[in-house]
Amino acid sequence: MDHTIAAIATPYGEGGIGIIRISGEESKKILSEIFRPATEKPLVPRMLNYGHVHHPETGEILDEVLAVFMKGPGTYTAEDVAEIHCHGSIVALRRVLTLVLERGARLAEPGEFTKRAFLNGRLDLVQAEAVIDLVKARSDKGFDVAIHQLEGSLSREVSRIRDQLMDLLVQLTVNIDYPDEDIEEMTYDSLKKRLSQIGDEIENIVSTADTGRMIREGISVAIVGKPNVGKSSFMNALLRESRAIVTDIPGTTRDTIEEYLNIRGIPIKLTDTAGIRQTDDRIESIGIEKSKEAFNRADLILFILDGSQEISREDREIMELLQERKALVLINKEDLNQKITYQNVAEFLPGARILHTSTATGSGLQEVEAVLEDLVYGGEVKQTDSLLVSNVRQKDLLVRALSFIRDGGVQAEEGAALDFIEIDVKCGWELLGEIVGETVTDTIIEEVFARFCLGK
Ligand code: GDP
Repeated sequence: MDHTIAAIATPYGEGGIGIIRISGEESKKILSEIFRPATEKPLVPRMLNYGHVHHPETGEILDEVLAVFMKGPGTYTAEDVAEIHCHGSIVALRRVLTLVLERGARLAEPGEFTKRAFLNGRLDLVQAEAVIDLVKARSDKGFDVAIHQLEGSLSREVSRIRDQLMDLLVQLTVNIDYPDEDIEEMTYDSLKKRLSQIGDEIENIVSTADTGRMIREGISVAIVGKPNVGKSSFMNALLRESRAIVTDIPGTTRDTIEEYLNIRGIPIKLTDTAGIRQTDDRIESIGIEKSKEAFNRADLILFILDGSQEISREDREIMELLQERKALVLINKEDLNQKITYQNVAEFLPGARILHTSTATGSGLQEVEAVLEDLVYGGEVKQTDSLLVSNVRQKDLLVRALSFIRDGGVQAEEGAALDFIEIDVKCGWELLGEIVGETVTDTIIEEVFARFCLGK
C-alpha cells in the first residue's frame, strides 16, 4: 500500500477557513490521534465533527477545527480520506500540517490526490486532466467544458471508437489466423468503408480542438494602430463592458499592456501594443520589439484607424504587415466627421472584417464582441460545447491515431495483406487508449500530474 499523503488543499493567504487533506491507510489513525471532538463522543464518519487539534504528547491545542473522516473507496482518491478544516491563516495550517506529517504522513506532491484517483480507477486520464482545467478555469465556458469532460463526455466518445476498432481487430485476426474456417469473410470493400467511417468520427473530434483550446486558454488579441487612434480608449471600453478577470503586467506607455477579459464566456487576452514604428530611441525600440512579438503571437490582430483622419503612410505600413494575418479593422471615432470609408480599407485588406466604432459613444462594441465569439466557434461547432478536445496531448494522440486509420484505409483500397491493415488498426486503438489512460506509460502519467497544484 502507498504511503499516506497530506497537503494544504486551499490557497495560501488569509481566508475564513483552510483545509488540510489526508489520504491513505493511516488517515483515520492520524486524525484520531490529533483531533479531540468537543463532545467526547467518537468521531462520526462522513460528518463534520467539531473539536480541537491538539498535540497528542504535550496536549497543546493547535487550532479549533471541524474534521471529517471518509472511508474509501467512495472518496475522491478512492482511499480513506480525512479533512481538517482549520482557521484560514497560514500559521494554523502549517502547525496542523506539521503535526500530521510528524504522525506518519508524507507531504503530497502536486496533483497526487488526483493521480491516486486515476491509479485507483476512479477517474480516467481525460477526467483527471479535466480536474486541472476546473481548478485553473478562467471563464464560465472553460469551466463548463471541463465539467463535461469530468463527467466523461470525451472519454465515452473515445471509448466508443476504440470498441469499434477492437471489433475490427478481432475480425481481422480471425480472418488472418483461420482463413479456411467458416467465418464471416471480410471484403476489402467493407473494410475500407468501416475504416473510412471510423476515420471521419475521429476527424470530427479533432476538429473541436481549436475551439477547445481557445475556450480553455483564451484567445490572444493584439491591438495595433498608430498613436491617438483610440487603442487605450477601446481597451477601457471593453473592460467596462466585460468582467476583467486579471489585470496583468502594468507596463508603461512604451511597453505592451496586457489585460484579460471575459467576453461572452470566452477568456480573451488583449495586448495593447505601443504602436509599430521605426525609432532610434532605445527604450522605445524595446517597446516596439515587444509589440511585434505580441503581434506575431496573437490569434487575431485588431487594427484601429482614426476615421476622422485620412489614411496615413503609417496606417498603410501597418496594413502591409496585416496582409497575411487574420485581422479585424475598426474605423474608430465614428461620432466625428468621417474621412475613411469601408471601401478605403477593403481595398487594402480584402480578407479582413471591418467595423465602424466609436469608443466615445460605445457604438459598434457589441459587433466587435460578436466577431470575437465567431472566431472561437468558427460558426459550425458552436453547439458541441459538451464534447471538446481541450489540450494538446489529446489532440496529438487523436491526430496520430487518425493517420493510422487513414493509412489502413489506403492499404485496404490497394488490397494489401490483412496483416498490414491489422497493424494500423492496432496502433490507432492503442493511441486512443493513451487519451483515456488505458495504454499509457509512467512518464506520461508523471507529465500530466506535474501540471497540478499542491493539495489537488
Ligand atoms: P491611443 O493612443 O491609440 O491609445 O489613443 P487613446 O485611446 O489614448 O485616444 C486618443 C484620443 O482620442 C483621446 O483624446 C480620446 O479621448 C480620443 N478618442 C478615442 N476614441 C474616440 C472616439 O471614438 N471618438 C472621439 N471623438 N474621440 C475618441
